[in-house]
Amino acid sequence: MKAAILKSAKQPLEIEETPQPQPATGQFLLRVRACGVCRTDLHIVEGELPPRKEDLIPGHQIVGDIVEGATAELPLGTRVGVSWIGGIDGTCPYCRRGLENLCDAPTFTGYTVNGGYAEYAVARSDFVFKLPSELDDLHAAPLLCAGIIGFRSLRVAGIEPGDRVGLFGFGASAHLAIAVLRSWKCEVYVSTRGASHRRLAGALGAVWVGTETDKPPVELDRAVTFAPSGDVVIAALSSLRKGGVVAINAIHLDRMPEFDYDRLLWGERQIRSVANMTRADARDFLKIAADIRLQPKVTVFSLDQANDALAAVKNDAIDGAAVIVP
Ligand SMILES: [Zn+2]
Ligand SMILES: [Zn+2]
Repeated sequence: MKAAILKSAKQPLEIEETPQPQPATGQFLLRVRACGVCRTDLHIVEGELPPRKEDLIPGHQIVGDIVEGATAELPLGTRVGVSWIGGIDGTCPYCRRGLENLCDAPTFTGYTVNGGYAEYAVARSDFVFKLPSELDDLHAAPLLCAGIIGFRSLRVAGIEPGDRVGLFGFGASAHLAIAVLRSWKCEVYVSTRGASHRRLAGALGAVWVGTETDKPPVELDRAVTFAPSGDVVIAALSSLRKGGVVAINAIHLDRMPEFDYDRLLWGERQIRSVANMTRADARDFLKIAADIRLQPKVTVFSLDQANDALAAVKNDAIDGAAVIVP
């Protein structure tokens, strides 16, 4: 099969022929229909996350058909999604507490095991999600990490219907989260760099849009930051009312700046990180996405253009999400 392979960090992916993977017991072999490109893929390829596997095929927003390993529940040909959390040990203290997103020994798709920048991929059969027919391949792919983790961020931020919510950064994840927030009748304030991202935020129903340094004109109940920047976290924190929460949707931050506790955190304001996702987050979000007919904005790349897709994400060169179609 053809695949895009990371041979060494900070080098471009090599697009080449490689043996088709063999599913083990409890795994499906999937024919990949589409694979979304996530900012985390970029952190892996650029070596900001330590390498965990040699000759890695990245990609953890896989839409694929089951071609081997079918079960009674998920028969041959079923269209499923695979996300970042590719498995858990099920035995660690976090799994036993029902916090599978914090598992001590997780499998991460496209990081600790091969992912979906390829014609075929294997996935644990208990970590795939049947995709609702309302969501086509291209539009389902970006939902599988950006969408699910964006949705988890809303949960971690404790957002209630009608809240005033700030979104700081407006890439793949935020442009999906705003649709969920609007269905919850929230007022959404967007601070982001890039004029095209600001236009998109306005078009998707933000009540206020500003640059990354502009402060929303009201105090926010909740905020979610999407940029890998500690300065943005501080901007979000300084926009909160007392008791407000900032959820950081980033697996990596450049640094966390020093800040004034008395002015910014006192008053029971909270900063929380958002780590991974649970299968319940995935199922709940995919149901909402189908109900509200969520249509992410996508730009399609071929497998041969995998490096261009990563560059587009890195440079914020496209609105919405990049999707590779092998
Ligand atoms: Zn565990
Ligand atoms: Zn991701």
